[in-house]
Amino acid sequence: MLEDLERVLIDETQIRRRVRELAREIAIHYQAEQGGLTIVPIMSGSIIFLADLIREIPLKLKISLAHLSSYREGTQSGALEPLVTPVKDITGRHVLIVDDILDTGRTLRFIQGLIRGLEPTSLRTAVLLRKPAKAPPEIPVDFVAFDIDDLFVVGYGLDYADVYRNYPHIGVLKRELMP
Ligand code: 5GP
Ligand code: MG
Repeated sequence: MLEDLERVLIDETQIRRRVRELAREIAIHYQAEQGGLTIVPIMSGSIIFLADLIREIPLKLKISLAHLSSYREGTQSGALEPLVTPVKDITGRHVLIVDDILDTGRTLRFIQGLIRGLEPTSLRTAVLLRKPAKAPPEIPVDFVAFDIDDLFVVGYGLDYADVYRNYPHIGVLKRELMP
């Protein structure tokens, strides 16, 4: 399974520690708010991050999955696939979008716009990773676990051609596999 990987960028111990810290920040932010919290995870890349994050947030919350995909094969951004199911429990609630990575911002621009139109009480975004070299400044992200260089990474939910999501660390894909 590891023949496509060049090195580990962030190991599972570092991830666990930082995700716990981020969950604490999020819990502190929402514990004083009136009204319910809905988490909107962007499938499939956020699955592992989501599972670890929400178990460290001791608040009542609902989950409404949004299934969007932009990297269909390999490492190049393709067309965004449409939402598979409509997001629910948005209007009049505090909404937190959870995604794996902010790269070009196309995915988050789309989903933030869609959710804003459904009139949540507030809208915030949490990402596991951000590539500051590429992330457009006009896309608001409120909670970021790690800033990384402009590398193609896999593991901890992130895939390469649909595999490696179950790799427990965040690893860098071998350069020769990058287009
Ligand atoms: P954006 O729309 O911001 O360009 O890209 C967001 C989506 O592209 C992410 O949710 C993720 O699925 C995918 N993506 C962007 N960068 C990477 C990366 O380095 N590795 C992996 N595996 N997926 C990425
Ligand atoms: Mg994604």
